[in-house]
Amino acid sequence: MRSTRPPAPDSAEERAKLMDEEIEVLIIGGSLVGLTTAMLLGQHGVPSLSVERHPGTAIHPRAGHFQLGTTEMLRQCGLEDAVRAASLRTYHPTGGIVAVESLAGRELATYVKELNEGVEGFSPTVRVFVNQDVLEPILRERAVEFGASVRNRTEVVGLEQDDDGVTVTLRDLDGGGERTVRARYVVAADGNRSPTRARLGIGMEGYGELSRSITIYFRADCAPLLRDRNQGVLYVHNPRLRGFFRLDRSGGTGFLVINTVGEDVTRPEAVSVSDDLTEERVGELLQTAIGTPDVPAEVLDVAHWRAESNVATRLSEGRVFLAGDAAHVVPPNGGFGGNAGILDARNLAWKLAAVVKGEAGPALLETYDAERHPLSRLIVEQAYARYATRVVPERGTDDVEPFIDDLTIELGLVMRSRAVVADGGPDDGALHMHPSEVRGRPGTRAPHVVLAGDRSTIDLFGRGFVLLRAPGPAADEWAPPGVEAHVIDAEGFADAYGVSPEGASLVRPDGIVGWRSVGAFDRDELSRALASILALETVST
Ligand SMILES: Cc1cc2nc3c(=O)[nH]c(=O)nc-3n(C[C@H](O)[C@H](O)[C@H](O)COP(=O)(O)OP(=O)(O)OC[C@H]3O[C@@H](n4cnc5c(N)ncnc54)[C@H](O)[C@@H]3O)c2cc1C
Repeated sequence: MRSTRPPAPDSAEERAKLMDEEIEVLIIGGSLVGLTTAMLLGQHGVPSLSVERHPGTAIHPRAGHFQLGTTEMLRQCGLEDAVRAASLRTYHPTGGIVAVESLAGRELATYVKELNEGVEGFSPTVRVFVNQDVLEPILRERAVEFGASVRNRTEVVGLEQDDDGVTVTLRDLDGGGERTVRARYVVAADGNRSPTRARLGIGMEGYGELSRSITIYFRADCAPLLRDRNQGVLYVHNPRLRGFFRLDRSGGTGFLVINTVGEDVTRPEAVSVSDDLTEERVGELLQTAIGTPDVPAEVLDVAHWRAESNVATRLSEGRVFLAGDAAHVVPPNGGFGGNAGILDARNLAWKLAAVVKGEAGPALLETYDAERHPLSRLIVEQAYARYATRVVPERGTDDVEPFIDDLTIELGLVMRSRAVVADGGPDDGALHMHPSEVRGRPGTRAPHVVLAGDRSTIDLFGRGFVLLRAPGPAADEWAPPGVEAHVIDAEGFADAYGVSPEGASLVRPDGIVGWRSVGAFDRDELSRALASILALETVST
């Protein structure tokens, strides 16, 4: 290992010779989204290297509300049971979202009665509350099992790309000096301050900084105050502060997020919670939110962070792709941030894997921005709408988009790109539709249909392309090489996928319908569609 930065070489070829290490995909950031990307690349057979400047995974709970897009992905990676067991150790499985004056005070509103209300029938799995600091080690372990390397206490300090790859300079934070890595592609999952985004000169647009918020981690015996309250998330709304609690199922530990202080939330000071904060003030605020001095609290830690709702102006530059908070940062209201980052990883990992393995043309990678950028904007709008309406309505809600219901956001998003072959049906350009209306339309999540043995069509996805057909002519004779064919002899399949008994649906490795034939089709049509998705040749549709 070299301990100093190598001299600057003149050509890409010379640079490549000087590299300490070569890797197909380098991931900057080893937190929620970096680890998910590493795990999914591994599942697709591509080893990666993730570098993370912290000594380990997250130390704070942060994300806790994981949506169906995430839990279906976890199920496909064999992690559903582990994550649900971890969730049960900390949370009630049926927590809801309510607003209270304080824990001891009156209940003001019910936003979500029960976390999984209305989910049944749409997915083989459920939403879960599990803390990020508990989830990340599970992801990391599976990523390593799938062949990924994760290097902690390592910081990216330089990045240069040319036509053939990316040269990344890494600094060992334990005094081991600097070295370079040559990667074919880089995923920047380096968080909301993303140094990589800055290096690439990619800006952010959206609503800017909404508040300088804090999170107070604490211990206090809040159980008697919870009564029969359903305790997933409790928004606190009173003249002294606004924010939310997340408490573990014992009611003994948890955290309080504070977004505003004081009665008049239109004043700038109201949203500068983290400025000039003293220990005494933290204690006072926490006690106010608990609502009674009879339940004394012990503050364990305080995190300062900015609530923002912004999206990067583009999600890639050459061979470098932004994912997670590096690509979009939202306030926690709605629980969208981490989940959207995981969708980025799902969208990107199979594309990178297919290109790296030579199974797809590099143009496939352009579809990452085409598919994820409009949806990132949508999430930014929806998170902002929830923040503005639930936390600071007095600041004005005129520019707020109407709420899209959670199930639609989770299972009804619509993508358009050259990796989706339209089937000629009507298209009003909408980015979302209720999952009951999706009916297997290309560009949407392939629906859940119950299969024998308590399985789901969702269980067939995640590893490669899958062709689904109703019983009829031998389905595997119809599948081109590299596509796994399944005959689905289950009630409701043709209806859920919007195909006739002679039709078929081609599902991409990320569980999105890439093409379908509503009526009878021939093998050539399917092969052309696959080639188009993989950017191997163009096809007119
Ligand atoms: C209070 C709170 C509650 C939340 N609740 C939810 C929720 O319920 N649901 C939800 O989905 N989301 C939630 N979120 C958002 C969620 O935590 C983030 O969206 C998520 O952490 C983003 O993950 P990430 O991997 O993209 O970025 P991060 O978690 O920020 O990780 C980026 C990593 O990159 C590393 N890094 C940065 N630069 C470098 C470098 N140069 N070299 C090496 N490493 C580098 C950092 O050390 C960091 O570990 C919440 C956030 C907060 C603050």
